[in-house]
Amino acid sequence: MKQLVLCRALNNHAWRVRGPTIVLAKNTRRITLECLRCGAVRVDRWQMNGVQLSRSYHLEDNYRDFLSDHNQAAARSVILEESRYVTSIHEHRGPRAKDKRKAS
Ligand SMILES: [Zn+2]
Repeated sequence: MKQLVLCRALNNHAWRVRGPTIVLAKNTRRITLECLRCGAVRVDRWQMNGVQLSRSYHLEDNYRDFLSDHNQAAARSVILEESRYVTSIHEHRGPRAKDKRKAS
């Protein structure tokens, strides 16, 4: 599954700070964030007291294409279609738990 599907399905990105924070004025900074999943870039201007002055997004073409073809529900369906199913959590943990017991 492409990780960018999660950004659409959850309506949220996995941001991390990218590069240095830029001093724009005495009380204003520009901070750049990048999504670890879809590569979207967000550029904010913040005051030193934390007030956000502006926000802009720059999306990768593949994520923009996915957005145009999938609303949030459609993205969730993609995840469900590509998921491996079990009927019980014990079915999932069975062999792995056994291996761990043997090793200890
Ligand atoms: Zn993202």
